[in-house]
Amino acid sequence: MKLIEYQGKDLFRRVGIPTPNGVFATSAADVKSFIEKNPGSWVLKSQVMMGGRGKAGGIKFADDAAQGETLAKELIGKHLVSIQNPEGETVKSLLVEEKTNIESEAYIAITVDRDTRTPVFICSAKGGMDVEEVAEHDPDAIVKYWVDPAIGFSPYIARSLFFAAKLPAGYGKTFPKICAGLYDLFMDYGANLLEINPLVLTKEGTVIAADAKVDLDDNALWKHPDVQAWNKAAPSDEDQEAALAIGLGMFNYKKFADEAGEPPKEVGTIANGAGLGMGTMDAVKNAGGGASNFLDIGGGAQAELVKKSYNLVTSDPRVKSMFINIFGGITRGDQVALGIVEALKGDDVRKVPLVIRLTGTNAEEGRKILADAGFFPVETMDEGAAKAVALTKGAK
Ligand code: GDP
Ligand code: MN
Repeated sequence: MKLIEYQGKDLFRRVGIPTPNGVFATSAADVKSFIEKNPGSWVLKSQVMMGGRGKAGGIKFADDAAQGETLAKELIGKHLVSIQNPEGETVKSLLVEEKTNIESEAYIAITVDRDTRTPVFICSAKGGMDVEEVAEHDPDAIVKYWVDPAIGFSPYIARSLFFAAKLPAGYGKTFPKICAGLYDLFMDYGANLLEINPLVLTKEGTVIAADAKVDLDDNALWKHPDVQAWNKAAPSDEDQEAALAIGLGMFNYKKFADEAGEPPKEVGTIANGAGLGMGTMDAVKNAGGGASNFLDIGGGAQAELVKKSYNLVTSDPRVKSMFINIFGGITRGDQVALGIVEALKGDDVRKVPLVIRLTGTNAEEGRKILADAGFFPVETMDEGAAKAVALTKGAK
C-alpha cells in the first residue's frame, strides 16, 4: 500500500521525525481561510501518489491568502504528468505547509535489499529533485548501509552514513534520530520503502522531512488497522472511485485503454478472485480478443454485486460481449445462476451477449438455468474466452 505524502508524514510524526507544520485541504476556499488565519509563506503541495511533482508543476508557493486561493484553484483539478508517471493523475487535494528556507537537500531512504535479504539505508548529500540523475551520473555520491536485522539499529549506522555521504555538518545532531525513526517505522509497519527526499537542512539550522514517500507491505497492514483504513479513504482515480461506489475494494476494478497494434478491448470481464481475473484477461487475449477491464468481484458473488459489476463494466461503450468467470467451490452453482438471471433481467441493464463459466457444486444445474435464460454457459475458461471473443464479432 502506497501512502500519499500527508499520510506518510503522519507516520513520520509518530516516530519523532520532524515534518513542517501544515494542513490538508480539498478546496481553494479552505486554503484561503487557513492562510488568512495563519499569515506567512506557505507551500501548496499536490497530494497525488506520483513522484516528480516539483518538476510537473504540482508544487507552488503562496505568500498571502489571495495568492494561496488563486494557486489552489489552479492546482485542484489539474492533471499532473511526470517522467515517473506518464499517464498522470488529477489533483484532488493539497497539503498546505509552512515554507522552509532551504540551505541544503539530502536524501535518506530505507528499503529491502532482496539480494542480502536485509534492510538497507540509502543516503546522499545530493538530494532533491534530481536524485535520479545523481544515481546515474554520480553513483559515488550515493552510499548504503546494510543493517543486520538480528542486531538492529544503532546510532553508529547513522554516523557511518553521515560521514560516508559527506552530509553537511548541520545535519549531524538530528540525523541519527531520523534514521532511528525510519528504522522503527520500517520494522513496526512492515515497509517496502520509506524515503525522505529532500531531507532539508534549513537556513535556521533545523532538519526537517520536506517530503515523504511510504510504501507498506500489504501483508503487515493488519498490525495497524488505522493505517489500513486509509486505503479505503483515498481513491486516486476514477476506476478506484467507481469500484468503491459499488462496494468493491478500490483495487478490484481497472479499465484498460485501447493499445495500438492490439485487438480492440471489447470483452468485459468479471471473475471472483484477482488471480482468476488476470487469468480471464489472458484467456481473452489468447483467443485473439482484448479484455476491456479487470474486475475481481470477490468471494461469494452475491447477485446484487454481480448486477452492479455488470453495469459498471458495460457502462464502457466499447464492450460488445461479457465473460463472467466464477469459480464456485462450495458456493452452489444453481444459486449463483439464479442470482445472475434474476439480477440481469431488468430493463436497467445494457444487454450484451453474456458468456458464463460456472464450476463447483451444482455447476451443471447452474448451466442449464443460464442456457434457458438465453445466456451462454461454458465449462472451461478457454472455451468461454473463445466464445466471448466470437460474440464481439457478431457470432451467435
Ligand atoms: P516531489 O517533486 O514530488 O518529490 O516533491 P517534493 O516534496 O520533494 O518537492 C520538490 C521540491 O520542491 C523540493 O526538492 C524543494 O526544492 C521544493 N520545496 C518543497 N517544499 C519546499 C519548501 O518548503 N520550501 C522551499 N524553498 N522549497 C520547497
Ligand atoms: Mn520529493
